[in-house]
Formats: sequence, structure tokens, C-alpha cells
Amino acid sequence: MGDKRDYLRRIASVNDVIQAAARGRSPFQAVPRDLLVDAVRSVVDGVREAIIAAKDETSLNEIRTGPEDLVPLVEEAVKQRMQVGLRKVINATGVVIHTNLGRSVLAAEALEEIESVARSYSNLEYNLETGVRGSRMTHLQSLLQELTGAAAALVVNNNAAAVLLALTAHAQCREVIISRSQLIEIGGSFRIPEVLEQSGARLAEVGTTNKTYLDDYRKAIRSETAVIMRAHPSNYRIVGFTSEPELPDLAQLAHEFDLIFLDDLGSGVLVDLARYGLPTEPTVLDSLRAGADLVCFSGDKLLGGPQAGIILGQEALVEKMAKHPLARAVRADKLTVAGLEATLRIYHDPEEAVRKIPTLAMLTADLESLKCKAQKLAGLCRKASDSYEVQVSQDLSRAGGGALPMSDLPTLVVSLTSSLHTPNQLEEGLRKYARPIIARISEDRVLLDVRTIFDPEFPAIADALADLASLKAE
Ligand SMILES: *Cc1c(COP(=O)(O)O)cnc(C)c1O
Repeated sequence: MGDKRDYLRRIASVNDVIQAAARGRSPFQAVPRDLLVDAVRSVVDGVREAIIAAKDETSLNEIRTGPEDLVPLVEEAVKQRMQVGLRKVINATGVVIHTNLGRSVLAAEALEEIESVARSYSNLEYNLETGVRGSRMTHLQSLLQELTGAAAALVVNNNAAAVLLALTAHAQCREVIISRSQLIEIGGSFRIPEVLEQSGARLAEVGTTNKTYLDDYRKAIRSETAVIMRAHPSNYRIVGFTSEPELPDLAQLAHEFDLIFLDDLGSGVLVDLARYGLPTEPTVLDSLRAGADLVCFSGDKLLGGPQAGIILGQEALVEKMAKHPLARAVRADKLTVAGLEATLRIYHDPEEAVRKIPTLAMLTADLESLKCKAQKLAGLCRKASDSYEVQVSQDLSRAGGGALPMSDLPTLVVSLTSSLHTPNQLEEGLRKYARPIIARISEDRVLLDVRTIFDPEFPAIADALADLASLKAE
């Protein structure tokens, strides 16, 4: 066997491989520089190790060492690196509050606040007036009180935590009455009966799947009863022959027996969406006005802020939750507090909220502006390659996130077919692209719903389409 040092010397340098990769095909152009360098290094290291480990001349001679030879390995290494980790994706699904894609995109104001708080120390739990320890809730509390009129507020990690904390603090070892039509599962892991069980509360289900009357609740009240709970059905609807008591009646019944009325709103909304042409979704204020003692909802659904669970209601009830040991385990971190505070501040002017909070802006986008976006994107798609047949057509978007579940929002989509790919191949190619683009297939066409695509993302989509076509054509 020859001297291994000779083989080791032949290994291309990191720089040579990078240059060879740059001369090659475009997949590398979308790859961040540091990621590429890291991938090349690992390939070069791998070759070195293979040479050192080689047992005979034949296997040594099989090891490729030239820059061009290593490019395919680098391509593989880059792919692997791009697959792991949290990455930006382009949401072309039209589902605005897409739980799998991170729910709400934050307003610029929220991002600025998060950055500034993260970059330095803050008065998170420090009272600047007195110079002693304060509460991280103070900043948020007054804002939530102003916006909703609620007596007290508490913010925790997410709405699941809010419900768990509410039930643990107020109904442990006691009973919670809930309608059979509301024993729901959300997103696969949040199931109302299981959360109830975790809290140590007992479930008293009343009524039937489609009809529950106030009297069903009344008959179920016993000395062990602590809470009457209402859960927003979120991701499904019972239609047809149905009945549910009105919230004020439920609240009144609860108060008649000194019980707590807890309303899990799911996707809490602070503005009247009906004013912007969307279906009516009861607001947080409606629920409080109806007499709910505790209301909880998510920060990152219709509110359009960071992940959080917001609890509003009577002072003594909120206080008891804040002091419960579980509250510490589910507390919101400072980045959430910063982002939520900045998001809520925008709500002082509802018109501004609808303009500046991306979730609301996308939901209320008018057809005319969607049409402009679709035509612009379609033009770029046509220019990307003539292997695509591109149309702009009407379709329906969804709000997602358990909000407005049954309402389809009229939208415009760029609809594509390719002479080089099947619809499934095109969808997969876009999804696996360096900057993944999540589209959907309908009637053998790949659809890009412009409602959830931001204008600055258009060139990336055109690049992806051009690359997919040129790679296939080679
Ligand atoms: C979404 C939802 C939850 C869970 O909220 P997270 O913020 O995802 O924890 C709980 N209850 C209802 C009714 C919901 O819609």
C-alpha cells in the first residue's frame, strides 16, 4: 500500500470545493454561506477519515479527493443540514393561523420590542419606582384591563396551560360541568376531558352531542360542583338540530349557585371581525360582558401575538391562579411578555390593529389586493420557465387555528401545472427546496394562495420554480 500521506495531500481544500460548488448548479446559491462552508468541511473531514481508515490499496484508490468529485457529497451534506432545525418557510396554503407553520407572524412593533428586551436587561420583575422586586405581569395587566375592562389578568405559556391552571386552582378534587358537545380535541394533544383529569377535577358531562339545555346544567349541580365550563368548539361545528344555552344564562346559573363560570374561548379576538366582512366571532369582551368569571384564550391565534395563554376575570379568582405553584411552571417568558405587550398596544386603535398585525391583515385582505398579488406572482412564475402553465383562479382560504372554522374566505390562487413534473413532484420539490414553500394540490394543480404569501417572498418562489425546471431538464 502506498504512503497514506500522499493520498491525504490530494484532498481538495475547503476553498477549492466551495469554488467548485459555486461553479456548479444553482442549488447552492440559496444556501447560506456558513452552512455551505460547514458542509464542505464535514465532507473534507470525512474523506480524510476514510483515507486513514482504509485497509488496502483498492479501497484507498476508490476514495475520491478532487474538488469536482466532492461536490455531490457536499450537495447531500447541505441537504441534510437544511432538513434539520427550525427554518423559515413560505406559507402558500392560505391557512392564516397554521399551527404546524407557527401560527401567527408577529407585527413589526412586537419584533422590535422583543429584540430590544432580549438585547439588554429589563425591568421584567423590578419595580423602578420602589427599587424592589416587582411582578412580570404588571406591564401586561394594565394593558389588558384597559382593552377589555377585565378586573384582573394573568398571562401564561399557552392556552392549554391557562385551562389547566384554571381548573387546577379552582376545581381540584371537585366537579366541573361541561356539555357533551364541548368535549373536544384540538390539534391532537389537547383534549378537554384529559386536561380536566390532569387538573384533578372530575368531569360532569351533561346534555347530548347536539343539544344541551340550561336545565341539564341545573340538574347536574351538586355540593361538589365548583365550575361550569364552556369550551369554544374551535375546529368543528355541530350543525342542524342543535341547542346550547346562551352565555349570560349559563353565567347567571353559575352565580345563583356560587359557582365559577369559566369560558375557554380558544382563539380570543379583541376586534369585531364582522366589521371587516368576516363572519362574527364572539369577542373577549362579549364573553366578559355575558358574565364569565374567567375567560382564557391563546395569544397566537386571532390575537396575532406570540404563543401565550391569556386569562382575564375576577380579581380574587385570577389572584388565586397567580399564586398557585403550577403558575410558576407555566409562566410566560420575557420575550413573550415583550411581544404580547407590543401587540396589545396596537389594539388601542382597532383600525391600526387590522392593518399592522399580520394575522388580522391577512384575514381581512380584500379581493382586489389579493388579485393584484396573484397577477404579480403569476407573472413571475411564467417568467421562471415555460415548462409551467400558470393561471390565476378563485379559491377559498381558511382562518385556521380553530378560528372561524367553518368559514371559507374567498381568495385568489396562482395555479400551476408543469410539463416536467407531476403535481405531486412539484409540490414535493417546492416543499423540499432550500427555502421550503408549502403549497397544496387541488384537481391536479399545485395552488399557491397569495393571502398568506408576503410580497418579498415572490422572488424566492420564482427562483424555486426556475431551479426545479432546470434541474429536471438537465
Ligand atoms: C387552541 C385552543 C386551546 C389550546 O390553546 P394553545 O394556545 O394552543 O395551548 C384550548 N382551548 C380551545 C378552545 C382552543 O381553541
